[in-house]
Amino acid sequence: MNSTTIQQYALLIDGQLTPALSGKCFDAVNPSYNTVFAHVSDADTFDVQRAIHAARLSFDQGPWPHLSLAQRGAFLIKIANLIREHAKELADLECASCGKTIKHATFIDVPTAADTFEYFGNLSDSLTAETLKTSGPVLSTIEREPVGVVAAIIPWNYPLIMSAWKLAPALLAGNTIVFKPSPAACVSVMLLAQLAHQAGLPKGVLNVISSSRPQAGGELVSSPEVDMVTFTGSTKTGEAVMMGASKGIKKLTLELGGKSPNIVFADCDLEAAIGGSLSAIFMNQGQMCTAGSRLLVEDKIYQVFVDQLVARARNLKIGPADNFETEFGPLVSIEHRDRVLEFIKKGKQEGAKLILGGSVPKGALSPKRGLSPSPSVQRGAYLEPTIFTEVTNTMSIAREEIFGPVLCVMPFSTTQQALEIANDTKYGLAATIWSRDLEKAGRMARQLRCGTVWINTYGTFMNEAPFGGYKQSGFGRELGAQGLYEYTQVKTIVTDQTPGGRSLVTGWF
Ligand code: NAD
Repeated sequence: MNSTTIQQYALLIDGQLTPALSGKCFDAVNPSYNTVFAHVSDADTFDVQRAIHAARLSFDQGPWPHLSLAQRGAFLIKIANLIREHAKELADLECASCGKTIKHATFIDVPTAADTFEYFGNLSDSLTAETLKTSGPVLSTIEREPVGVVAAIIPWNYPLIMSAWKLAPALLAGNTIVFKPSPAACVSVMLLAQLAHQAGLPKGVLNVISSSRPQAGGELVSSPEVDMVTFTGSTKTGEAVMMGASKGIKKLTLELGGKSPNIVFADCDLEAAIGGSLSAIFMNQGQMCTAGSRLLVEDKIYQVFVDQLVARARNLKIGPADNFETEFGPLVSIEHRDRVLEFIKKGKQEGAKLILGGSVPKGALSPKRGLSPSPSVQRGAYLEPTIFTEVTNTMSIAREEIFGPVLCVMPFSTTQQALEIANDTKYGLAATIWSRDLEKAGRMARQLRCGTVWINTYGTFMNEAPFGGYKQSGFGRELGAQGLYEYTQVKTIVTDQTPGGRSLVTGWF
C-alpha cells in the first residue's frame, strides 16, 4: 500500500460509522516499511462516553438482550460470512497493521476469526434454563442472563482473533459492547466494525472505539455505566485494569502475559519437537502470549537438539510481511523492536551466551534471506531470530515476558528438575511437552501450574476448548462453553410447590 491509497477508518458508535467529534485521526504505521498506510479516527473522552452511553441505552431498552439465542446467533453467522467475503482485505490490513506475515494472516487469522463467529453463532441451545433436583418442595431453576454493558480491550498481536474471541460470546449471551483495540494495530478491527454494522446489529449493541490516548482504556474500565470488563494485554496493565474495575465492583476477566516453558524429553520425535519449538518462539516473530520462550531440553539430546534448532532458525526467510514467501516479518513497531533489543543487551550482560541473531538484520539484506535491499525495507522494524544458551532461570530474560523472537535455552536432567524450572515463574498461561511417553507427559501436564498444556503439539487452539491463565497470567476463560459463561450471570428462580398450596414460610411467625 502506498500513500495514494491511504484510507480513513471511522468509529462505530450507536449504529453509525462516525469520525471522532474532534475530527482528529492518528496514523496507522506499517512496520514492514515504517510508513503510514491508514488514518484512524482518534476517539476523545467525549466519543468514549458517547459509545458507553449508546451501549447502556441499547442494553436497558432492548431489544438485543431479549432476542432468542438463535436470533442473536444468526447475526454472528452473518458476520462470519462477511469476514469470509472480505477475507483478502482483512488479511491485507492485519498484515499491514501488525506486521503479521500475509501467509499467517490469510491462513490463520482471518479464517479463525470467521470460524469463531460461526461456532458461537451455532451455540443457540447452550444457555437453556436448568431445573435443579432439590430436597425441598420447590421448583428451582437456574437461568443464565447477560451481564449488561461489556467493555472489551485487546492488545495488538492478534487483533482479528482476539476480537472474535471476545465479541462472539459476549454478543451471543445478549450483552452490549464497547470494544477498544490497541492503537498500535487496530485497522483490521475497524474494518471488522464496518462488517458488523453491515450485518445489521441493532444500534448501540456494538460500539468500536480507536484512540491514540493511553487514558481511553481507563475511561472504559472505570465508567459507572459499564457492568463488566474483559481485558487482554500485559500483566502490568492488567493490574491497573483490575484496580479500575473495582470501582463499582465490575465483573472482570483478565488474559495476561506469559513466559511459557517448552519441555523437550530425549524420547521425543525429534523432527516434530524441532518444528514445534521453532513455531513456539518464532511464529508472529515471538509476539504471542503463549510463546514457548523458555526451552528446556533433556541433557541427553541437548547439543543435537540445539544445533538442529539453530540451523533451522538461521534459514528462516526474513522479509516484508506482505510477501507470501516471507516466514519471519517485522516486529509491530520500531519502539517495540528497541524494547526487545534492550532485553537482548541485558541477557548478554547477565552472562547468557548469544548463539543466534540478536541484532537488526542489516547484514542479512540478501535475496536468500528474503529481504530486498531496498531502502524502504531497511526502514522496517526487523530483528533477527535470537537464541540464548547458558541461561539460568533467574536471569531477567528467563523471567520477564520479552514478547519478541528471543529464545532462552536451558538443559535439565530429570523430570522433577524440568517441572521445577517450568513452574518457577510468576506466569501460568501455557506449556508444551514433547515426549513419546504419553503417561509421563500426562503426569507432568497435571503438575504444571498453567491453563493449557500441549503434548506433542504447540498452539493448537480450538473453539470448543477454554483458554486462559493461572497465576499472573490472569483469570477467566475465552472460547468454549466456559468462555460463553463468562459473559453471563446466573439467576436462580425458586417457586414454592408445597402440597396444599400453603407456602412453607407462611407459618414461621
Ligand atoms: P498492553 O497491556 O500494553 O495493552 C493492551 C490494551 O490495553 C491496549 O488496547 C491498550 O491501549 C490498553 N490499555 C493500556 N493502558 C490501559 C489502562 N490503564 N486501562 C485499560 N486499558 C489500557 O499490551 P500490548 O502491548 O498491547 O500487548 C502485549 C501483551 O498482551 C503481552 O503481555 C501479551 O502476553 C498479552 N496478550 C495476552 C493474551 C492472552 O490471551 N493471555 C493474548 C494476547 C496478548
